[in-house]
Amino acid sequence: MNEKVGGFLEVGIDEGSAEVVINHPDLKADENGVGHIIFSPKQARDLAQLLLTKAGDAERLAREREEARRVASLPPVDWSARTLADGSPVTEDHREINPATGQQKDYVVLSDEERKKGFVRPVRRSYKHLKCGTVTTMGYAIAETYAREPQFYSGTFCCQCRSHFPVGAEGEFVWVDDGTKVGT
Ligand SMILES: [Zn+2]
Repeated sequence: MNEKVGGFLEVGIDEGSAEVVINHPDLKADENGVGHIIFSPKQARDLAQLLLTKAGDAERLAREREEARRVASLPPVDWSARTLADGSPVTEDHREINPATGQQKDYVVLSDEERKKGFVRPVRRSYKHLKCGTVTTMGYAIAETYAREPQFYSGTFCCQCRSHFPVGAEGEFVWVDDGTKVGT
């Protein structure tokens, strides 16, 4: 019994040879009157697997293109739209290090309004310090700032080392979610 794929290809079985046959309306019969493609059962299975793989590749490509279009359509980041992580105005002394924790007194983020204009990366909250292997989790405002502008920060905090180290392509941190470098 033949089945039409998308109303176009006709797939069936050649009962004489017990092989799989695909008919295509544009395939012209050769001198032997053959206007179709014949596959052994193994070839047919391999083709089916290959089609599944290629269909997945094509869908992934379409998703990547759609994501690139979306990102390209976002307004540019206004780097001056800064607040502290809780939304309050930036203070002079926010970079002071708390000796008990090694963390800054407070952290600057892109404002809530600026972050709502759209992310160019997924929001990821946990990262691993490659030097010590420890995972640190950050608050949403900082995580969303990374998602809106991956290059906003030059460094980040490790809760094990109790200090800040560089981020970026040559930095010391990767996101737990996907293993990409923090700050890229
Ligand atoms: Zn560390």
